Amino acid sequence: MKRGIKILVVAVGLVIAGVAVLALTGTPPSELAEILAQGGEKPLRDPMRAARGAPRVLVFALDGVGADELEAVIRSGRARHLAALVGPPAGEPGLYRHAYSAPGVLSILPSTTYAAWTSLFTGEPAGRTGVPGNEWFAREEDRFYAPAPVSVKEHGDALKVYSDQLMGTVTRVPTLYERAGVRSYVSLAALHRGADLVTIPDARALGKVLAGSVEEVADGSISDELYADLDMAGVESLLETIAERGPADLQVVYFPGVDLWTHVAPRPLQDERRYVETVVDSAVGAVLGAYRRRGALEGTHVVIVADHGHTPVLDDDRHSLGGEGADEPPAVLRRAGFRVRPAHLEVDEDEADHQAVLAYQGAFAYVYLADRSGCPGEGSRCDWRRPPRLAEDVLPAVRAFDAANRTGAGVPALRGTLDLIFARAPRPPGQAGPFEVWDGQKLVPIGEYLAAHPRPDLLELESRLRGLAVGPFSHHAGDVLLLAKSSSALPIQDRHYFSGVYHSWHGSPTDQDSRIPLLVALPGGDGRALREQVRRAVGERPSQLDVTRLILALLRTPPH
Ligand SMILES: [Zn+2]
Repeated sequence: MKRGIKILVVAVGLVIAGVAVLALTGTPPSELAEILAQGGEKPLRDPMRAARGAPRVLVFALDGVGADELEAVIRSGRARHLAALVGPPAGEPGLYRHAYSAPGVLSILPSTTYAAWTSLFTGEPAGRTGVPGNEWFAREEDRFYAPAPVSVKEHGDALKVYSDQLMGTVTRVPTLYERAGVRSYVSLAALHRGADLVTIPDARALGKVLAGSVEEVADGSISDELYADLDMAGVESLLETIAERGPADLQVVYFPGVDLWTHVAPRPLQDERRYVETVVDSAVGAVLGAYRRRGALEGTHVVIVADHGHTPVLDDDRHSLGGEGADEPPAVLRRAGFRVRPAHLEVDEDEADHQAVLAYQGAFAYVYLADRSGCPGEGSRCDWRRPPRLAEDVLPAVRAFDAANRTGAGVPALRGTLDLIFARAPRPPGQAGPFEVWDGQKLVPIGEYLAAHPRPDLLELESRLRGLAVGPFSHHAGDVLLLAKSSSALPIQDRHYFSGVYHSWHGSPTDQDSRIPLLVALPGGDGRALREQVRRAVGERPSQLDVTRLILALLRTPPH
C-alpha cells in the first residue's frame, strides 16, 4: 500500500475509535496528533470490475437504528429526502407508495455491531462467520480481537479495520461483494473484502472533525456535531468518487456516527431520531442527488438496513459491568480461583498464564475457560487449543456467577445484574454445541427451560443462539454466556450492560435491540410490486441473515 493511503486509512480507524474515546474522556488518542493524510478512496481491485449499469442496488446501512426509530422518522415528515424516496404510507403494514418495509425482521445474536454487520453482509450466522461480537477471544490462537473495543481500551485492532482489512481477514465466509460479482463501492463499512473500492473521509474533513471535537469536549458540551462531521465527511468522499468514476452497480453507504452518538446522547432514542431526520437524511439526499444527476437513479433499488436497535441505560458504575475492578465480573472468576486475563488487547509474555478470558458485547458477555489441569501453577501457560473440563472448569465458573447474581456472594455489586447464564458441554474448537440454560442446579436445553419458564420478551432465543453456538467458529462465543438484565420492559434502574459507562446499549434478544428495518424502495416505483419482489426473494418473514440474499436477487432482477 502507498504510504499516503496507509496513513489515511489508519486515520479513519482512529477517528471512528477515537471519536468514541474522546467524547467520553476528553482525551484524543495520542496517535491522532501525528496524523497527516490525503486522498479519500482506496481501490481494492486492479483492475476494477467494469460497471454494467441497472439493475443497481444502493444500500444505506444505519448503525444502531431500530425498526421503530426509522419508521417514526419516516412518518414524522421531518426527513424530507427519506419521505420523498418511500412516498406516503399506502394503507397496509410496511407498505409505502414507492417502498416496502418488511415487518418483524430480527438481527442475529448478539445484536451487536461487528457480529451483526458481518452476518448481514455475508448471510451467515456468527458461528460460521468467525465474528461473534465487537471483541472476542480466539482460543485456537490464544489471541484477543477487538475491532470495536468494549472491555479493553486499546485501539490497535480498530486501526487495522481500515489499514489492514482486519475484518476481511477474520471473516471466514464469502462476502456480499465476492458473491455479487459486480462493481461494488463501500463507504466506511468495516467489512469490505471483495469490493472494488472503499471510500473514507479525507484529510481536510478529518482535520475539521478533530479540531471541532477537541474544542467541544474541552468546554464540556456534548452534541452530535462530531458524529455528524464523521458521517458527512464519509459521504463527501463517496460523492467525489462517484463524480470521478460514476456510480457502482452495488454501493453500500455506512453511517457509524448515528450509533456512536446514540450511545452517549442525553436522551438516546429521541436524539437518535433527530440525528436521522437531519444528518442521515441530508446525507441520503446528497447520494440520491448524485445518482439523479447522472441519470442513475432509475433502475436503482435503495435498501435501508441496520445492525441493531438501542435500549437506554443509566450511565453510572452501578449499571455498567466493567472489565476491570474489584466489583466487576472478572472479580467473580478471580474469587473462584481462576487467573483472569487482564482487560488488554495484548498481554506480555509473563502475564499470559490466564485460565479465563472475558469479552463484552453490551447485553452479553462471553467467558472462555481453559483446561486448568495443564496449567495449575502461577506462570504456567494454558493450552487453549484444548477444551476446558465441564465439572472442573466450566461449572465452577457458572456457579460462581450464579451465586454472585443471586446473593451478591463474593462481589456484592453484581447481585441482581444477570438475567440468564448459559453454558455448554466443552468440545474441541470447531465442534462446539448449543448453549443450555443454568437453572440453579443443572444445565437445561433452552427449549425445555423456556417451556417451563416462558420468556416471550427474548425473541426466537433458541434458534438465534444456535446461530452463535453452532458452526466451525462457534467456540469464539466462549464456554459460558452471561446475559445481563437489559430489557426495555424493565425500569431503567434495573438494566445493566457489559461495557464502560454509556447512556444506551444493545446486544440482547429483546425486541428493542433486535428488530431492525429492512426497507426496499425504488424511486418512482410501486410499493406493492416491491413487496412481491421481496417475498419472492426471501419469503414473508426474512431475518438479518436474508439481506445478502435479497440484495443478490435485486441485482439480478430488472426493476419494473
Ligand atoms: Zn452497531
